[in-house]
Amino acid sequence: MRRLRRIKILATLGPVSSDSAMIRKLFEAGADMFRINMSHTPHDKMRELVETIRNVENNYGRPIGILVDLQGPKLRLGSFTDGAVQLHNGEAFVLDSDKTPGDKSRVYLPHPEILKALRPGHALLLDDGKVRLIAEETSPDRALTRVVVGGRMSDRKGVSLPDTDLPVSAMTTKDRADLEAALQTGIDWIALSFVQRGEDVAEAKKLVRGRASIMSKIEKPQAIDRLADILEESDALMVARGDLGVELPLERVPALQKQMTRMARRAGKPVVVATQMLESMITSPVPTRAEVSDVATAVYEGADAIMLSAESAAGKFPVEAVSTMNRIGEEVERDPIFRSVINAQRPEPEQTAGDAIADAARQIAETLDLSAIICWTSSGSTAMRVARERPKSPIVAITPNIAAGRKLSVVWGVHCVVADDAHDQDDMVQRANRIAFRDGFARAGQRVIVVAGVPLGTPGATNMLRIANVGSDSDADF
Ligand code: PGA
Ligand code: MN
Repeated sequence: MRRLRRIKILATLGPVSSDSAMIRKLFEAGADMFRINMSHTPHDKMRELVETIRNVENNYGRPIGILVDLQGPKLRLGSFTDGAVQLHNGEAFVLDSDKTPGDKSRVYLPHPEILKALRPGHALLLDDGKVRLIAEETSPDRALTRVVVGGRMSDRKGVSLPDTDLPVSAMTTKDRADLEAALQTGIDWIALSFVQRGEDVAEAKKLVRGRASIMSKIEKPQAIDRLADILEESDALMVARGDLGVELPLERVPALQKQMTRMARRAGKPVVVATQMLESMITSPVPTRAEVSDVATAVYEGADAIMLSAESAAGKFPVEAVSTMNRIGEEVERDPIFRSVINAQRPEPEQTAGDAIADAARQIAETLDLSAIICWTSSGSTAMRVARERPKSPIVAITPNIAAGRKLSVVWGVHCVVADDAHDQDDMVQRANRIAFRDGFARAGQRVIVVAGVPLGTPGATNMLRIANVGSDSDADF
């Protein structure tokens, strides 16, 4: 089974998509990687989902990636005596360290570090930004605020602090427990929520110890200021537009999406555009025109993947949401303008053998109109450098390492195949030809280009490039 688009689809699993039959349907409709959201998934459910996905993977014989998304330091208010209160514009409202249930004048904020870091003038956004407060007087155990945008406020609503640099790491005690449980199941990617700085990622990396790749969710203004550091420490980025659009004015989100997509593409690291891409499909079988346009924008930008959240986890039309994304991806990538946009944004190759070979492979494939670029890769890094080139020809990654195949399921344009290690260069080329033929990337008589590091298994040593005729033995050495 091959996909007819380069951009990948990431589908979040949840109540409507947790059994094997539904996960199969989502995969068939186009989901390349699945996301398990630890904000809503207990450990036993997470383990069950991982097992189900691995069984589906086994049935199809194609690597499927799993991303486990950690909740991160999501801040919440305490509760109210009557469950809820109405806050009116201009009123005073106090957040304090007193655990007694709140009323219309005050509420408990169960995060002493926030009260300490808060300063007069800082904004507090409650319940996804529906209510807005401004701090007027602050102290380590009490903040007096003024209601700027009022509304109903109920127990344990979320609090966002766009102006406050929080002295908290991106990993809570819950996150550490969730992380360890997830790593024990052998998942492929970990997403870190509310990352604020490169050190947050470095800290997570120490705990992960190479057992998974790390995707940083960019959803705080503090992260925007330190994007280069965060990207340097991370294996991938997620443009987490939900919380980003709460903490920053919505009109800033599109430019930030473009900025992050370009930065990640330049670094050759995957970037996922997430949240509310097809929001109306939670309840409707068809999306709005604006949503289609939004998905198309991410495709034109050459993002590695687009993501579904509630659409596939809790909506009425999970399969339709995936197939809608699939169709938009295919259609946009057929547009001749797509190619010119992608080409115009291609970063220069870095000065490494891997980049030089990837750049050359793309150029040769274009000049000779080759059917595919096939890379033998043990860690996945060769395939990622080829993907960075955003070539016109499909990329086929052959790896003896299933973990590398799964990791690549979020990478732009890469079709992954798990196969035994090649004996020598001839074996490598012959098997590349056979796989390209079998999976529908080349017909007999067509040519492909094979890229590898020889000897195989030395990560980062990409040094071979060969043009080969599919279905014949007359491989021309390059
Ligand atoms: P979430 O992250 O779905 O975990 O909140 C994505 C976002 O904020 O966009
Ligand atoms: Mn979020």
